[in-house]
Amino acid sequence: MTRITVAKGDGIGPEIMDATLAIIKAAGAKIDVDEIEVGEKVYLAGNTAGIAKESWDIIRRNKIFLKAPITTPQGGGYKSLNVTTRKFLGLYANIRPCISLHPFVKTKHPQMNIVIVRENEEDLYAGIEHQQTDEVVQCLKLISRPGCEKIVRYAFEYAKQYGRKKVTCFTKDNIMKQTDGLFHQVFDEIAKDYPTIENEHWIIDIGAAKMADTPEAFDVIVMPNLYGDVLSDVAAQIAGSVGLAGSANIGEECAMFEAIHGSAPRRAGQNMANPSGLLQGAVLMLVHIGQVEVAEKVQNAWLKTIEDGIHTYDIFKEGTSREKVGTKEFADAVISNLGQKPSQLPAVSLSGNAALNLPKYQRKPAQKKELLGVDLFVHWNGSSSDDLADILKKVNTPSVQLSMITNRGIKVFPDGFSETFCTDHWRCRFKHIDEKNISKQDIIQLMQTAVDNDIDVIKTENLYAFEGKPAFSLGQGQ
Ligand code: NAD
Repeated sequence: MTRITVAKGDGIGPEIMDATLAIIKAAGAKIDVDEIEVGEKVYLAGNTAGIAKESWDIIRRNKIFLKAPITTPQGGGYKSLNVTTRKFLGLYANIRPCISLHPFVKTKHPQMNIVIVRENEEDLYAGIEHQQTDEVVQCLKLISRPGCEKIVRYAFEYAKQYGRKKVTCFTKDNIMKQTDGLFHQVFDEIAKDYPTIENEHWIIDIGAAKMADTPEAFDVIVMPNLYGDVLSDVAAQIAGSVGLAGSANIGEECAMFEAIHGSAPRRAGQNMANPSGLLQGAVLMLVHIGQVEVAEKVQNAWLKTIEDGIHTYDIFKEGTSREKVGTKEFADAVISNLGQKPSQLPAVSLSGNAALNLPKYQRKPAQKKELLGVDLFVHWNGSSSDDLADILKKVNTPSVQLSMITNRGIKVFPDGFSETFCTDHWRCRFKHIDEKNISKQDIIQLMQTAVDNDIDVIKTENLYAFEGKPAFSLGQGQ
């Protein structure tokens, strides 16, 4: 028996959860359920996190969490419970299989069978944002080596275990050479440990276009958080419907399983919703907790039901579908098909699959780190970068001096273009005149002089080299 935590959520959540639990229990799932309340009621009772402390205790004790969709009330500072759960529990991997059910569910991509592996904790979703000037706000994109290693390793281990042939990495490292560059670099490093699995990297824009046009060219695709968020919905939709996809959020200790769609409040309480997305989440859960035979039985009965044309309203199509059913009747049909296999759709065989065995991250020895300079970010309302350079010359010390100014990344001093549009947010780079290292004391002195001269420095970024390699972006055009 595995004790799991269940949250029935909001909107259509309770109906699809009841249907899902009925199916997996009928298939012989050995689970005990602790139910917790999350979502709208909890939010509206004044808890902006949408979950009570006691519920966290249950989730952390059981480690396995099956969650129905919840409604996040609009505005009012309510925090997304999904994002919080993923980050609190360290659920670094989001796995979303997107498989065509052609010809039983309409899709332009009958051969599609891909798995999106999305990094789930970092990137722009660290949610670290600041307004620094009248005109400019920033969001910090954080990519870590452990984050990259864990997710890329997960993608290759998944491919190995499920007999998949290729892992593709999507990034935009032609532009973001440090952040996406690290993701791509780690991908190349880890790919070497899996010589029998093909690997490739695509720049995300053309990769996404190719995926939307010819998804059968891909197998497993691994990517940073934001790209994965967008493209996993695209992939689920073009496979047939977002209403049919489930996802697993996996961490080193805990895991959460869910449907990818929301709480569809307009459909709530009418016995209309399709429970398939949550059921797919539950199948991923059963594999994760080692109840592989039950997972296989449920999946094959579900495929047979879809194949029989027993469809809820969202996928019902005159001609292909045979009977339009409600949530409960769909669940009953799946239950009556337990033990059977689909005849046209490929039946799944999950034997031998279980939770992946992944190494814990090992911190590498510290690298040699040198301070090569500093960027002072300045809030300044003028328009001529030469004027700003004149002002900033006051900040120069005999050895550490202004070398470049950029505005939104593009170099505007020295030798800027008058056509370049400038905001009030200027990055002013100071380096040693003889390309030597500088000290933290030099930075303090620059800052003190800036304050003395009423120069509004809104933040600083140190310019480091690691193992002798400069590790910061140049100005565009530099
Ligand atoms: P939604 O996914 O709830 O609904 C979008 C459309 O898809 C609706 O027209 C609905 O009728 C249909 N649909 C969705 N799931 C269906 C199902 N199982 N069966 C049949 N039809 C289905 O997206 P939304 O309307 O943008 O969001 C509603 C609420 O859900 C919002 O409060 C949002 O914050 C929340 N949400 C929660 C999660 C989650 O808990 N994981 C995810 C996304 C959205």
